[in-house]
Amino acid sequence: MAKTIALLPTALSNNSFPDTDWQALMAGSLRSADQLAAHLPVARAAIEQVIARYPMRINPYFLSLVQRHGHPLQRQAVPCAEELLVDDSQPDPLHEEQQSPVNGIIHRYPDRVVFLVSNRCAVYCRFCMRKRQVGHDTPIGWKALQQGLDYIRATAGIREVILSGGDPLLRTDEQLEWLLANLRAIAHVEIIRIHSRVFSTLPQRITPALAAILSRFGPLYVNTHFNHAAEITPQAEHACRLLVEAGIPMGCQTVLLRGVNDSPTVLQHLMRRLVAIRVRPYYLHQMDPVAGTAHFRVPIRQGLALMQSLRGHMSGLCVPQYMIDLPGGGGKIPLLPGYVKETGAKTIQVENYRGERFSYPLN
Ligand SMILES: *Cc1c(COP(=O)(O)O)cnc(C)c1O
Ligand code: SF4
Repeated sequence: MAKTIALLPTALSNNSFPDTDWQALMAGSLRSADQLAAHLPVARAAIEQVIARYPMRINPYFLSLVQRHGHPLQRQAVPCAEELLVDDSQPDPLHEEQQSPVNGIIHRYPDRVVFLVSNRCAVYCRFCMRKRQVGHDTPIGWKALQQGLDYIRATAGIREVILSGGDPLLRTDEQLEWLLANLRAIAHVEIIRIHSRVFSTLPQRITPALAAILSRFGPLYVNTHFNHAAEITPQAEHACRLLVEAGIPMGCQTVLLRGVNDSPTVLQHLMRRLVAIRVRPYYLHQMDPVAGTAHFRVPIRQGLALMQSLRGHMSGLCVPQYMIDLPGGGGKIPLLPGYVKETGAKTIQVENYRGERFSYPLN
């Protein structure tokens, strides 16, 4: 049984977050408008309305970051009335549900599937593309997991399984070990990938015991999710180090978010910090047109300009790919700033990161 811990005092000095068990931190999460209002100056009634539709969870660790850093972290975790604005976006624009052959599996590409193994997260991000699903109280049971495994076992073209959710690492060590052992027993599954945000929202989840389990089921890759350098605390850094030193390559999927990371300095700082902790920037995601998230969208033109502010100005290791996920289940494609200015009969005219023009032979 997880013990509940007292919520934190408002003033926390740097890095003084107590060393607490992750299950206790989950149990101590803020879930209601009243609990939140006791810690942050917020409009209680508006928040209550939003939570009725889209659940809130802010665990004490992430609350301490919000209290310390304010806006860029608050905006990600604290519900806001704009989530209820009606526009033409849909709950599931990517048609994940149509591309789901069995519950919990999204099979969009020939060689890989997403396997949703948890619908809980350590914090419910207000911009989540699976807002329609996460945090509602229907835990994913053994039967659903078995069905997913059966589908993967029966589908020989699947070379890679991406565990996602919700957050797969909110499963217990024993459950994860069971899942991974079952996946590894399937001969055609070459690669296992885990998509998890706990490195930024609940780094206490990453323990030496978990690292030891994950390291037994390689080749296994972990992609995490940081949106702002303020999330890279000593605790987060330690969590990443545990996995990297256990031989697990780590990448990061960042979501481009208005009011959080939509500036060259914020993005550059984030990417540099990621590389410094040995987490390779993988994708910078354009926000999907998901209902309840319009206030986070950054125009594509601005996204392209931001990519231009990275490429060439900093190490190629720091540059993720800027991705859009096509509506209707078309899949992801990268967007590149317009480096090719003209295509002639024999040459292309290109522009470098300093805005200088060059001619380059076509053949
Ligand atoms: C994003 C995604 C993947 C993984 O795509 P990569 O480009 O390999 O990272 C796989 N399946 C679905 C349904 C996805 O949305
Ligand atoms: S951790 Fe991921 S799945 Fe969970 S709410 Fe945040 S974005 Fe959504």
